[in-house]
Amino acid sequence: MKRLTAKELAAQITQFINTSYNVEVQEATNEEIFYSLAAVVNEQIKPLWFDTKNRYKSEQAKQVYYLSMEFLIGRLIKSNLLNTGMLDVANQALAELGFDAEEVYAVEHDAGLGNGGLGRLAACFLDSLASLGLPGHGYGIRYRYGLFEQRIIHGNQVELPDYWLKKPYAWEVRREDEICVVQFQGNVLMHQRNDGSLEFKYEHTDKVLAVPYDIPIIGYENETVNTLRLWSAEPITEEPNHSTDQDEFYRHLDFEHSIEQLSGFLYPDDSSYEGKELRLKQQYFLVSASIQNIMKQFKKNYRLSLKHLPEKVVIQINDTHPSLSIPELMRILMDEERLGWDEAWDITTKVFAYTNHTTLSEALETWPKQMMQSLLPRIYMIIEEINERFCQGIWFEHKELRDKIPELAVIADDQVHMARLAIVGSFSVNGVANIHTEILKKKEMKNFYSLYPERFNNKTNGITHRRWLMQVNPKLTTLINEMIGDQWVKRPKQLINLLRFQNDRNVLEEFAKVKRENKILLANFIHDQMGITIDDQSIFDVQIKRLHEYKRQLLNVFHIIYLYNELKENPNLDMTPRTFIFGAKAAPSYHLAKETIKLINTVASIINYDKSIHGKLKVIFMENYNVSLAEKIIPATDISEQISTASKEASGTGNMKLMMNGALTMGTMDGANVEIHDLVGPQNMFIFGLRADEVLHYYQHGGYNAREIYNNDDRVKRILDQLQKGEFGTQDIEFKDIYYNILYHNDPYFVLKDFEPYIEAHEYAESVYRDEYKWQQMSLINIAHSGKFSSDRTIREYVSDIWQIKPI
Ligand SMILES: *Cc1c(COP(=O)(O)O)cnc(C)c1O
Repeated sequence: MKRLTAKELAAQITQFINTSYNVEVQEATNEEIFYSLAAVVNEQIKPLWFDTKNRYKSEQAKQVYYLSMEFLIGRLIKSNLLNTGMLDVANQALAELGFDAEEVYAVEHDAGLGNGGLGRLAACFLDSLASLGLPGHGYGIRYRYGLFEQRIIHGNQVELPDYWLKKPYAWEVRREDEICVVQFQGNVLMHQRNDGSLEFKYEHTDKVLAVPYDIPIIGYENETVNTLRLWSAEPITEEPNHSTDQDEFYRHLDFEHSIEQLSGFLYPDDSSYEGKELRLKQQYFLVSASIQNIMKQFKKNYRLSLKHLPEKVVIQINDTHPSLSIPELMRILMDEERLGWDEAWDITTKVFAYTNHTTLSEALETWPKQMMQSLLPRIYMIIEEINERFCQGIWFEHKELRDKIPELAVIADDQVHMARLAIVGSFSVNGVANIHTEILKKKEMKNFYSLYPERFNNKTNGITHRRWLMQVNPKLTTLINEMIGDQWVKRPKQLINLLRFQNDRNVLEEFAKVKRENKILLANFIHDQMGITIDDQSIFDVQIKRLHEYKRQLLNVFHIIYLYNELKENPNLDMTPRTFIFGAKAAPSYHLAKETIKLINTVASIINYDKSIHGKLKVIFMENYNVSLAEKIIPATDISEQISTASKEASGTGNMKLMMNGALTMGTMDGANVEIHDLVGPQNMFIFGLRADEVLHYYQHGGYNAREIYNNDDRVKRILDQLQKGEFGTQDIEFKDIYYNILYHNDPYFVLKDFEPYIEAHEYAESVYRDEYKWQQMSLINIAHSGKFSSDRTIREYVSDIWQIKPI
């Protein structure tokens, strides 16, 4: 690819503005400039996209397909510029044309096609696959409405629809040539062919068109362009005859509308499961279109018999949401390709690999068998057969597990258990951090582990350092390059070379300066957005993630209330000023999560305007937390709050992004925090609270009494009574549910239990912060060790242990 100079790029943008919008470039809007720039980028990569596909074909490469109901990709403009090596040039060209580059980039609407970590992981994986030159693609759904836009009104979360496609999406290409049909409902007819084999035919099915929109996934300076293919549901066009029958016309519109609902919106629940039929339809829509498409490509490009499918295709299923792809492949192999069961099953179980993301029981998917039977009759038949054979296998070959069959069966108590289906139909089952995989093996999936020990493996999550360091924190990137060169960009573990400077005062001061500058940028942004002035010398203490009880934003708020109470008692208390920053969306139906948002905002509105504390505390709840907001907050963070109830956070990836930007982790020994701890040691982070085995022991054997803590700890009692009496509410009923959940439901997430150690960890953190040298040293050590958490490392592990694919 020929590299454009800033002059050339400016000229191309100008020409595009002149000819496409018919205006002078000086008169163009940011929006017009954005679309022109995107058009130039697209022109640059088009030939690479085409070549990449042909290279994979001519090399007969094995390809990996990443199936996910969510891809939280955010904006692509900057990462596309970075990966094509054009970011600096674009910044320069836009400046020369008289435009503010950041304002131009901000024209792009976030593609919020995911809830949180799971969807963002999928996006990071695509970036790493392409950047490592690997043949790997994503399949997802092109929701017309992404995750809701959050507004805070009188302290409450209000959800607005996220119509992200209002303006044309700059990076997608509609692919009419790859359209396929997905069938729902109907009857299955079975009859015997002359050779004695069974034939299955479907009649009276509802047919839906799956229309793919392709998004190029650009590798970092390596000429690889892979594909994210998102399916959109459309009716099979049949013009209604509206001249004769008005009713029929409206029925037809309703019908079309109901089909478009299939890719209408993303379900906004994170780490929880909703048994809604439309969601099941969405899952099958994704799965059926994708598997059909994968088979079509295999047959077209490889000319091998189907038994060679596992040599050329591996499919990773991101959580259980796409696990119907297992019976779907069986269906195609048997009903369309006429293979027998055993051969089809042998192929299928060599193709699929499953990633588990959670052990939270409320997140485990099960579908009522009647629902599945009527919506997907043939798929249900196949699942029944899978289950039958699986249970028989246990009965005859694993007598020791006979009494466990009800806990292992794919269909049990009239429910289809999706995790069981995924495990039975895959050759690999992985957790997403060491501690999580160990909990799967020892507890949650103990019986499956004893059946299939060789299937279980760990792949600790990662993040793309290109977006989460180079793109979001150019100042830190430049400084790192000055210190250790830029080898780390291709080999992020080389960040470890920063350790050379851990005792160099001048260098540490340079890192401190970058952090200060980033904090000023964020302070200005907060001022512009919210009209609140924050002290850029204060500790920026950040918790950004979905709002969930297990993530314990409540523990954070209790600490803030505690500090406020202390300051009210003693306004002259010698305390380093703190700014607590939150970003979090709650699932719209999650009452306690929404109450917590209200509490944070109510506490903020009291603390931020209380002059008697001399600005020592500020609480900022930033509305509409999404990828673009994360990109603004992370480089400015001092303390990264990773305070989940131990054993509950499978991995976390926010913890990795913040560490890589020099934040120090305040965290429990949970998820990937444990691996951060193993790298930097307890002296370079703030670890506190119950350990996972202690939490699991309490769950199993009881023995925890929240009220005892309430009775014995005045600080705790004061806070809870303040909630109960309505000191933070406009009405005294406001936060009673939080109060009751803790005292009457015995504090299921151990907020009170971890309160004291949390306070102490914060006191210690404050004392360290006063020693700027020591703080900066710890920060540098964290950055130096963060290379492990590049998703390039994660992807390399998937490649060598699971996928067995090669860079092309
Ligand atoms: C990284 C990220 C997450 C995941 O954060 P956790 O702290 O791991 O839960 C969620 N949402 C967005 C927008 C992110 O960028």
